[in-house]
This record gives sequence, structure tokens and C-alpha cells, in this order.
Amino acid sequence: MRREAETLGEALRIRRKISREQIETISGVDTAKCMKCGKCTASCPVGEEMDIKPHQFVSYVNRGEIEPLQKSGSLWKCLSCFACVQRCPRDVKPAKLIEAIRLTVIRERGQNYLSPDEIPQLLDPQLPQQLLVSAFRKYSK
Ligand code: SF4
Ligand code: SF4
Repeated sequence: MRREAETLGEALRIRRKISREQIETISGVDTAKCMKCGKCTASCPVGEEMDIKPHQFVSYVNRGEIEPLQKSGSLWKCLSCFACVQRCPRDVKPAKLIEAIRLTVIRERGQNYLSPDEIPQLLDPQLPQQLLVSAFRKYSK
């Protein structure tokens, strides 16, 4: 019985495995265009705090290694500032990849991390509106 449950669990886990093609479809990014110049990471304001750097994200996706990215702390460090998108000479858009992978994690958990009802109590008059939009992109499906 236990073995059956394990097999079923394994099957479900395998079925949920996300492919490179899925991430490229969600993000609209063609990872094959990357020439590994590292400009995205060099321009990232939180690059030094990331366990997997923006240019590495592109390579991981290109190799179809999505699971380590889903477990990466970088998903939540990214500020969605899009500096990496602006600096990339090949128009690869690493931030879009990070966003797409973050979305798969949030969807798998089946819930938003932020709902509009929670906003008023978090609001600070000094907050730039851009930050609120980024938070919605980051924490909701
Ligand atoms: S800047 Fe663009 S081409 Fe260069 S490593 Fe980053 S994603 Fe690849
Ligand atoms: S969007 Fe994210 S990965 Fe890209 S530069 Fe900004 S913080 Fe770094």
C-alpha cells in the first residue's frame, strides 16, 4: 500500500515537472539567443545576493533544469526592476524567465501571496506606485 502511494506520489511529481518549452512559452523568451556575456548579472542590483544569478537562470532553463530554479531564493530576491532586460544585447529578457518560474511555484501552491484586500493596511504614502505593481506581479497568479 505504501509502495503504491509512493509510486502515485512519484507519478504526480513527474507529471508536474516543468519543461524548458513551457517556461519559454509562458515567458516569451528564447533562451538560445543568450551569448553568456553576463551583462544582465552585472547590472542586477541584487545580483550579489542571488544564489542563482540572472545569466545562470537563462542557462538552467536552456538545459531544461527547472526544478533548481523553482527552489532558488533568487526567485524572491528579484525586484522586477527589468535592468537586466534593458542591458541585454540579445533581447533575452532574464526577468521574464524569473517571473515565469515564480508563477509556476505560486500556481503549484494554489494561492496568491497578496490580495487587494490586504493592500490598505500595508500602504505607506511614501511607497512608489511602481513598487505596488511589482508586488502584484510577484505575489499573485
Ligand atoms: S545579458 Fe543577455 S546575452 Fe548576456 S548573459 Fe544575460 S541574457 Fe545572456
Ligand atoms: S529584474 Fe530581477 S534579475 Fe533583472 S536586474 Fe532587476 S532584480 Fe535583477
